[in-house]
Amino acid sequence: MVKKIAVLTSGGDAPGMNAAVRAVTRGALAKGWEVLGIRNGYAGLLEDEMRALQARDVGGIIQSGGTMLGSARCPEFAEPAGRTRALSILEKNGAEALVVIGGNGSQSGSASLAREGFPVVGVPSTIDNDLYGNDVSIGCDTAINITLEAVDRLRTTASSHRRAFAVETMGRNCGYIALMAGIAGGAEVIALPESELAPEDVAERLRAAYQRGKTHALAVIAEGAKCGVRALMEYYGAHRRSIGFDLRVTRLGHVVRGGIPSAADRVLATRLGAAAVDALAAGAHGVLVGIIRGDAVRTPLAEIAGRMRPADAGLLELARVMAR
Ligand code: ATP
Repeated sequence: MVKKIAVLTSGGDAPGMNAAVRAVTRGALAKGWEVLGIRNGYAGLLEDEMRALQARDVGGIIQSGGTMLGSARCPEFAEPAGRTRALSILEKNGAEALVVIGGNGSQSGSASLAREGFPVVGVPSTIDNDLYGNDVSIGCDTAINITLEAVDRLRTTASSHRRAFAVETMGRNCGYIALMAGIAGGAEVIALPESELAPEDVAERLRAAYQRGKTHALAVIAEGAKCGVRALMEYYGAHRRSIGFDLRVTRLGHVVRGGIPSAADRVLATRLGAAAVDALAAGAHGVLVGIIRGDAVRTPLAEIAGRMRPADAGLLELARVMAR
């Protein structure tokens, strides 16, 4: 039976990571286990940067974005020699299991550690929502809401000046944030890596919106889409007259993953942190815990590594139909 676990946050920070650290810590303490908090992800693990966490150490963090443990990228951990060192450091500190709170790359790391025989449980936490084995990862809801707020604000100025705005949001190769914020914000065009549009297609939809008499038009563009804002601006520069609207571009960048986590992200993180501890208590490891259709589900990390959630074709079509 496990008596001492370690927890780390890895990869890009996501709002709600702190709530997950809190839930893992308090869930484990409630079972009478000890908890070690590792600083700065796998990089801190390789530097043996860890300390015991008590209930009070994770107090007052549920509402703050980022991660109190810190996060980092660590290429060394992707090499077998790095992981061998990590295993000996975990052993030296008496950690019998590790909870990894992070995104796609981080869970590839936990899958490698699991394959090498160490008990690991992954908690999906990335604004990108590109992980297989869960419906929505921690941080994504907040990122969607920040993007949506920007879309709503830009719509007012767009209407006043009869302009079009292209808003680029984050998400790496996954267009989930752009899709959801685009639907919620009533965007005229949504460009995603999973459903590519050429700059001339985007421009054509903006032109059609102008001809239908719209006072504004909004294009939400995922950062991974081939039709990036630069390509769109170049096309626009050459065809401005025939399109009607003036075009302005706003790149949201890291703004979308900063700040206060939404209620949904805090609840999700609390459920998943507790589910990770429950999995270890039940002797289940080498898994990612995720919510699928409302239930906490464990999926083998071996099935997750290198896979991406497919885009919802139904939602894509819905967005297209609504942009009339
Ligand atoms: P986000 O998508 O939010 O940026 P992420 O978890 O996908 O988060 P990455 O930078 O891809 O972020 O990965 C974080 C860390 O996980 C890497 O720096 C590396 O230490 C480890 N990692 C990534 N891929 C692998 C792999 N294939 N094997 C072992 N470790 C890996």
